[in-house]
Amino acid sequence: MGAWVAALALALVSVLTPALGSAESTGEALTLEIPGLTCANCEIKVEDAVTAVTGVRSVKASAPTKVVVIFYDPAQAGPEEFIRTIYRVGYIAYVSPPAYRCAPCGVVYPAPGECILCQAELTAS
Ligand SMILES: [Zn+2]
Repeated sequence: MGAWVAALALALVSVLTPALGSAESTGEALTLEIPGLTCANCEIKVEDAVTAVTGVRSVKASAPTKVVVIFYDPAQAGPEEFIRTIYRVGYIAYVSPPAYRCAPCGVVYPAPGECILCQAELTAS
């Protein structure tokens, strides 16, 4: 009887798990500063490297702003992994102090200017 209940509970868990996973599909946004990001080739190198990390949904690097914005699943990847990945392709990246914010995207930036995703004017946060 006990074993039967355990088997039923297990079956239920395996049915429910995919639904829970998709509920978390909104993910998180992380902004990293990369002082060495100087041209379009750098942008592509960083974007390609970070895109290959498991759990990453989208990546946008900007040489003029010297930041990369990463949308990812925090259950699968995190800042340390991105910093290591970017270091491997030749750049030093660090977590940006969230001094300015894009209101529409909710993405933070270290310096004032335009959002690299939607071109909205950033506001001090
Ligand atoms: Zn924006």
